[in-house]
Amino acid sequence: MAIYLAVVADETRMREAEETTRQRLATVLRDGDGTPSELAVELEVPPHVVVDHVQHVARSLEETDEQLLVAPPTCRDCGFDGFDEPANLPSRCPTCKSESIAEPAFTIE
Ligand SMILES: [Zn+2]
Repeated sequence: MAIYLAVVADETRMREAEETTRQRLATVLRDGDGTPSELAVELEVPPHVVVDHVQHVARSLEETDEQLLVAPPTCRDCGFDGFDEPANLPSRCPTCKSESIAEPAFTIE
């Protein structure tokens, strides 16, 4: 039982930490824009975690006056930017197979 309670407490702390990270993310994006790599440095989490938080923040803004805007990732070789999931980190271009993809950028307006 003691172990069970310890695990619950730990999960609560993790949720609070995630909540804090999302609030910091929203604050940064209200001030300007950022790519996953830039925001990763700012928030001290890996870029793919930034993308996950961005998607949560976007949903949390759905019923507010604000919205999360995404400049989609773009292929540096052929210019393709029609990725199915713009708020993501694609590893290669579906058109020319290049792996040189510029990251998406996020902002809140
Ligand atoms: Zn391409």
